[in-house]
Formats: sequence, C-alpha cells, structure tokens
Amino acid sequence: MQERDWRPESLAAQGLGWVDASTQAINPPIHMSSTFLRTPGYGPERAYIRDQNPAFEQAEALLAKLEGGAAAAISASGMAAATSVFMALKPGNHVVAPAMMYWSLRHWLTSYAREWGLDVTLVDMTDLGALKAAMRPGRTQLVWIETPGNPLWSVTDIAAAAKIAHESGARLAVDSTVATPVFTQPLKLGADIVMHSATKYLNGHSDLCAGALVTREADAFWERILQVRYQLGSIIGSVEAWLLLRGMRSLFPRVRQQAASALILAERLARHPAIADVLYPGLAGFPGHEIARRQMEGGFGGMLSIRVKAGTEAAKATAARVGLWQRATSLGGTESLIEHRASVEGPDSPVPGDLLRLSVGLEDAGDLYDDLDRALSGGNALA
Ligand code: PLP
Repeated sequence: MQERDWRPESLAAQGLGWVDASTQAINPPIHMSSTFLRTPGYGPERAYIRDQNPAFEQAEALLAKLEGGAAAAISASGMAAATSVFMALKPGNHVVAPAMMYWSLRHWLTSYAREWGLDVTLVDMTDLGALKAAMRPGRTQLVWIETPGNPLWSVTDIAAAAKIAHESGARLAVDSTVATPVFTQPLKLGADIVMHSATKYLNGHSDLCAGALVTREADAFWERILQVRYQLGSIIGSVEAWLLLRGMRSLFPRVRQQAASALILAERLARHPAIADVLYPGLAGFPGHEIARRQMEGGFGGMLSIRVKAGTEAAKATAARVGLWQRATSLGGTESLIEHRASVEGPDSPVPGDLLRLSVGLEDAGDLYDDLDRALSGGNALA
C-alpha cells in the first residue's frame, strides 16, 4: 500500500498494507522466537518477547490508526488491558467507574482494586450530575466509562464525561469494545485512553482471547501502563496476534452487517407480544438514543438485550429453546449468541432476571428472528 491518507476501511482491509521485507509476503510471518540477537553494544534494539513482540506491531499500528491514537498495546485479554490502566495508578488514588458495566471488571474494582488501595466510586454514568458530584478534584485520577455499557447498553456521553474528568485533573478511559472504532472514536471526543476486549469484535471469530489499549498521547502514564504489561507478562502468543490482525482486516463489513441485523431485530422484537422491553441504542425511544446518534457514526453496534414479559423463568426457558442462536458467553463473533446474564453473573448481579443478552452475528436476520420468535412462543427449534 502506497503511503497516502487512505480511509480506515482501506487500511483495515489490508492490515495497513505492510509487506514482509524478506519475502514480499502480503501477510506477516509468525515469529516464534522468544529472544532476539543483540548487537555487541547492547543498544536499544529489540530485546525480549515479553516487551517487544514483533507479532504485535502490525495489529497495534492498525488499531492506533483506526482509533486516531498515538500508540496501541495488545495484551492477554480485555481484563488484562483494563486492569493495567488501574494498576498504573497509585494506592490512594481515586477512580470513578460505572455502577453497571462489564461485571468482571466491576467485581475486580470492588474487590482486589480496593484491597490494593484504590479508592473506587461507582456511579450511574448516564447521570452526568452524579459523575460530577463523585469527582474529587486533585484526588480523582481516572474516570472509566463503558459505552454502550454491558448488558443494558446504556449510553454515556463521552465528550461530556471527558470535560468533567479533565476539569478535575483526571483522565478519561473508555471501554469501547461494543462500539468498535467503526462506530465511535472516543479519543476524538476527548477521551485519553480507549480499551477493547479484542476477544470480541476486533478479532470477530470467537477463537482467541486478547485485549487492547490505545492512547491519545504516548506520555508518562502510558509508559507506566506498558511497564505493567511488561512486568506481568500479560501478552498473547504470536499465533493469536496473527489471528487478531487477520480478524481486524474484515472488521468494517462484519460489524456493519451485525449492526444492520441488530437494528432489524430490535425493531421487530420491540413489537413482539412476549417482550416487555428491547434495550438497543439504535431504537428511537431508547434513553441515550440522541447521545448515541451524536457519538456513534453509521450504526449502533451488534448488541441488544430483551426483557421477557413473563419473567425470569420464561427468559431462561426461551434461551433453552433456541436452535440457531448459540447459548454461550461472549460477543462479537460471526455466530449469534444468547445468554441469561443474571445466571452467569450470580446472586450479586444487578442485571434483571428477565433479561436475555443477544450478540448478533452474521446469520440471516430473518432466521434469527424466526428462531427467537419460536423460542419466545414456547416452541422448540427441534420440534
Ligand atoms: N469489556 C467488555 C465490554 C466485555 O464484554 C468484556 C468481556 O466480555 C471485557 C471487557 C473483558 O474482556 P476479556 O474477556 O477479553 O478479558
């Protein structure tokens, strides 16, 4: 690819268009070496795989480009990426995070992070007044948001949250796993750090676990985050890095198709007699729809949730009856997934028992609707 200002779709499709210098291959080799020959002077060359894995470079460069950031870092999982941001802070620092968010990170923040000395406040991030009130100027170092947020898909105004964070001298980090760089670029809206569970849409095929961070500035705080990754060794293998880059090449058409199907399903399911509510930022009546329209370009993502009128047991029975949707955790793959979140998250979960989370894949939207309709109406897909 000749250097030019190509559009993000073009950059992604060619994985930035890097060509292997030794073979002219248009896909990168998979380097399996854990170490690299040093020059006699022990200069600042590549040293060791835990720090400078050549397999990460192309995917990191592409993601930094798609998010409009100065640098990116791939790590072992979304959780490894997210926790490295908090671990780069210091004991006694105050952070503000959403009361409703990806449950494992909320659990980590309210257990380990607090025990390690972080002062954690959880607030409803759709209420900017609550965020403002939670800020402690000079002490709050980080505001963490997730938008759309798991599993109610609540929308947080990134630009407004960035302003509130910055006014108090804090950074804003955004879990943008569900929005993907296709629909939202948080750095352009004022965020300082973007985080992805690359296990999800970036890879897109449910066949690896990875995380990613992108920073607006490669500053001292970013260096501390990189040090956490290096010291803990929270990296993925070269084969996984290669697969991640391969997945990212089809990111744009995949997630656009998934979002288009999700919108069709949300609109049809909103009229279904067995459903009390459909949670999807693309629906006109959804709280946060107007903010989503402002900060999400070209689609509202492939995730939605439904609340089953007849309650918890009916929701569980619906998930048990599907034939095309797969009953499995995770999201963002080519296959559509359905999950009863309250069962998965356990007794402390704030998620309503009547809620089913849907990750829309690449199947035909009509097939997906028919399968759910049958399951909601009490019919078994195999009957
Ligand atoms: N953030 C969100 C929004 C997620 O959905 C997940 C996983 O489901 C994570 C973070 C954690 O990512 P991982 O499972 O790759 O550690």
